[in-house]
Amino acid sequence: MTQNEGAAELARMIDRAKRAVVFTGAGISTESGIPDFRSPGGIWTQMAPIYFDDFLASDEARRETWRRRFAMEDTFRAAEPNRGHRAVEALVRRGTVSSVVTQNIDGLHEESGIPPERVIELHGNTMYATCLDCATRYEIAELRAAFEDEGERQGRAPRCTRCRGFVKTATVSFGQSMPQEAMRRAEIETMKSDLFIVLGSSLVVYPAAGFPELAKRNGTPLVIVNREPTGLDRIADLVLHQPIGDTMGAITGVN
Ligand SMILES: [Zn+2]
Repeated sequence: MTQNEGAAELARMIDRAKRAVVFTGAGISTESGIPDFRSPGGIWTQMAPIYFDDFLASDEARRETWRRRFAMEDTFRAAEPNRGHRAVEALVRRGTVSSVVTQNIDGLHEESGIPPERVIELHGNTMYATCLDCATRYEIAELRAAFEDEGERQGRAPRCTRCRGFVKTATVSFGQSMPQEAMRRAEIETMKSDLFIVLGSSLVVYPAAGFPELAKRNGTPLVIVNREPTGLDRIADLVLHQPIGDTMGAITGVN
């Protein structure tokens, strides 16, 4: 099948779908300038990940976690939804896609205009922080200012102003359990879907990669759009090794 034939087949599958689920990974956001942390040469291959238990146990681990996060802040702030995000948003708005399940922590699906209740974040969201004890929300810019400006909080890991608990980005860290509610919702949406489209995930990280497998076992057609081969190409009904933005943009008529 040529690239054009593959895209035409995906367009037909989308036309027929009434309740599709889109599952996204880092590959959709690299087109917005967000690095793929887990890819070869990515940040996690250069710096040892900080595990959740270490974050809880060590003040230095907390400071290092925040130094790394603030070092990424300009990149995250500059990133905007790209053509791929806009195409997915159009499919949600048209009623074709019921939910977007994402491994990404950049908040770009919400920023593209998809209602937050239709985005299921398996690894959380790094664009804000919460107190681990009382869940009070904190904004990154405000935490960064305190960390970097001269003053008594300079260089210190932020603590909750209400309860003194540790403040952490709203992400799922290495060694931290997956969010039960998000996992449950993603499973329900997968089981109800009549088309499952993977965009930009290498499908090697579990339990996230279990969702396309679940869809397939449930009889739902599985489509994978990813630049490189993935761990589940062999069970997919259609595989397109193409850029996401241009492929999905052309299919949906979104620029
Ligand atoms: Zn608190």
